[in-house]
Amino acid sequence: MSTRSELAPYAALDAQTRGRVHPEPSAFPRGEFQRDRDRIVHSTAFRRLEYKTQVFVNHEGDHFRTRLTHSLEVAQIGRTIARLLKLNEELTEAVSLAHDLGHTPFGHAGQDALNACMKDHGGFEHNLQSLRVVDRLEQRYAEFDGLNLCYETREGILKHCSLANARELGDLGQRFLDKKQPSLEAQVANLADEIAYNNHDVDDGLRSGLIDEEGLRETRLFSRHYDEVRAKYPELNGRRVVHEIVRRMINTLILDLVATTRANLEQAGVRSLEEVRNAAPLAGFSADMLEQQRELKRYLRQHLYQHYKVMRMTSKAARIIQSLFDAFIAEPRLLSPEHQEHVQRDGARAIADYIAGMTDRYAMREYRRLFGIDEITV
Ligand code: MG
Repeated sequence: MSTRSELAPYAALDAQTRGRVHPEPSAFPRGEFQRDRDRIVHSTAFRRLEYKTQVFVNHEGDHFRTRLTHSLEVAQIGRTIARLLKLNEELTEAVSLAHDLGHTPFGHAGQDALNACMKDHGGFEHNLQSLRVVDRLEQRYAEFDGLNLCYETREGILKHCSLANARELGDLGQRFLDKKQPSLEAQVANLADEIAYNNHDVDDGLRSGLIDEEGLRETRLFSRHYDEVRAKYPELNGRRVVHEIVRRMINTLILDLVATTRANLEQAGVRSLEEVRNAAPLAGFSADMLEQQRELKRYLRQHLYQHYKVMRMTSKAARIIQSLFDAFIAEPRLLSPEHQEHVQRDGARAIADYIAGMTDRYAMREYRRLFGIDEITV
């Protein structure tokens, strides 16, 4: 458990948590955020992340990131930053590990497809779904639904949310209406997510052969580290070159983020978590690094995420999601009795919960069961 003497005055403290919706005895000798982290790791939704796509569908290769390995990388980067800034590492870790729990199968294509299906039923946002998973959908405790996590962990998980949804959420939604910030631990987890996915998408993209080093050299962040690695190891080739470059890119981003955030904190003169919430966002990159990140993102969007082979995969994925949703909404009796009961209670939202909870391979299997005509039995 982290105490005030070890942490900065603006860090979130276990002992000062705003607490849990259902009061529970203290987690001692664990800290409250440590307990949250443990609950997240033991959840079913966390284990399903292993079989959910980041960019490449799980079965395309054993070395590509999945949402599980992505979440672990986010947590590791987040903890490094939190430690350097004397923030609460356990809180950053808990938020990082939980941030993608609500993600649909098939990455962003799945999320967009499900959001389109749900447009007349309140839409679908994966951040909000992550919160729904930890607040309601996990069923592990006798006395409450969900994991009953601390306010600060839930606040960090809900990175974005529409104003309409914010109004429904009570105290957790209020900050979006008041335009306030979450804790620095949550801000750091959010930026660690960006560092992780940009860099591993470079790595996975190169591994897949859909993008190449020559092309990536158009971006400053890649090219300067490419030149450095080439100069230092002129004989090196293959995957090691990529790893040497990506390592340096991650390091550069972390150091810039830490230095810029320290300067922001000093300038704002914040002395407490409350002041962090009331200030402008304090964790961030320098203007130059932000531009370099944007350049890299633009490159990845254009050459990787919109590569025709990725587009074929995402369009197929979207069709699977859409077909499943249409079939279940038209005929809920296709669902197991347990899910039919949920639909009776929550309508279309229960179908979205069911589909969002699927892994890539489960969604494909369900699609074949419903629409495969080479076998009529289930
Ligand atoms: Mg993520």
